[in-house]
Amino acid sequence: MYDWLIVGAGFAGSVLAERLARERDERVLIIDRRQHVGGNAFDLLNDDGLLIHRYGPHIFHTNSTAVFEYLSRFTEWRPYEHRVLAEVDGQRVAIPINLDTVNRLYNLDLTPESFKKWLAARAELITEIRTSEDVVLSTVGRELYEKFFRGYTRKQWGLDPSQLDKSVTARIPTRFDHDDRYFTDSYQAMPKYGYTPMFEAMLDHRNITVSVGTDYKSLGSRKTAGRTIFTGPIDAYFDYRHGSLPYRSLRFEHVSREVEWHQPVAVMNYPQTEEFTRVTEYKHITGQVHPHTALTYEYPEPQGDPYYPIPNPENQALFKRYERLALAERNVRFVGRLATYRYYNMDQVVGQALAMFRRIEESIPRKNGRTSCNFRL
Ligand code: FAD
Ligand code: UDP
Repeated sequence: MYDWLIVGAGFAGSVLAERLARERDERVLIIDRRQHVGGNAFDLLNDDGLLIHRYGPHIFHTNSTAVFEYLSRFTEWRPYEHRVLAEVDGQRVAIPINLDTVNRLYNLDLTPESFKKWLAARAELITEIRTSEDVVLSTVGRELYEKFFRGYTRKQWGLDPSQLDKSVTARIPTRFDHDDRYFTDSYQAMPKYGYTPMFEAMLDHRNITVSVGTDYKSLGSRKTAGRTIFTGPIDAYFDYRHGSLPYRSLRFEHVSREVEWHQPVAVMNYPQTEEFTRVTEYKHITGQVHPHTALTYEYPEPQGDPYYPIPNPENQALFKRYERLALAERNVRFVGRLATYRYYNMDQVVGQALAMFRRIEESIPRKNGRTSCNFRL
């Protein structure tokens, strides 16, 4: 008998397994229905020996010192600042939109000051910013919205930006200077040898048993542990009692090419053309040197593995009904992107899991009577 059953060996499940086993000396069984640990951050070497991400590009960035220090116990890092180009009107320009994007696209010579005025003349006055359309129209106006956001968002989500919560496109800022980095977080780095070895280091503890290829449902009513942490889709846990929560899926096409380079940056976005949203070339991210290259094309799909919770008021209301069931569930805790239906980045999931560990520490006495030493967020 284990003290804890953890369902899902992604960031949420692995962080909690590590904390419970190492800090509280409790016995943990962590299962995943996939054949590997790491959840969506799983990476592996392809036939050329190039590191690729099976579930699309995972770029680590955070402003949280606590999260970065915590993960640094399990990996060294390779500094990496992410840059993305969008193919718009036949040109390759920086996204997030910055001064150079507009100068290039319109053949202008704006300065940061005159760029602000240029944008202000185009931005639409929207009194209450509610949707992903409102966010973009109110900052860059309709023309840039159409070029960069409308098509990409419709393709990615199967919904118009006006049907999505503002938080979705608010992830992409507008820059008034030449900064062409995708993120500006204080920590931007990739696990030096990949995510999978980092997860293996987290789970390498005598108190942790890992069982991959094991679905929670296959355990049936067999009681394997006193307490459960569930990190899969919350609607599946409750057998879709209130109906299915919409999650957006993707099909990943992994391609090897016998050329050294395919594109100038790690990710190219296609907001106007193509059926795929973006193409990733991993060598830019990993720094590997090789005569061949490895790419991933992402094709959004309505059905398939649940990758993205879809943020809008209707789906949030349905999630709240499941959340009420979750709160009433004795001895089961729900954490992570799928179980809390939040469009979270990796660092936010690590933060959420560390916060849950702190709540466990506050509410369940340690069996060994040791005092706690938590990571404070
Ligand atoms: P997951 O990684 O999804 O892990 C949940 C696990 O539970 C899965 O492995 C699943 O197989 C398992 N599971 C589900 N149901 C069951 C069951 N019934 N029985 C057993 N196991 C089950 N974040 C960033 O910070 N930077 C990025 O660049 C970035 N890029 C992304 C790109 C894509 C295409 C996607 C989809 C996500 C990206 N993310 C990125 C987000 C990142 O993947 C998540 O924040 C993080 O992986 C969530 O961790 P998690 O543990 O909550 O969920
Ligand atoms: N987006 C867009 N055009 C782009 C990049 C992003 O319209 O060139 C919108 C789109 O709705 C996307 C969202 O902004 O889903 C968030 O983008 P991000 O790159 O953060 O998406 P993720 O990496 O999570 O898929």
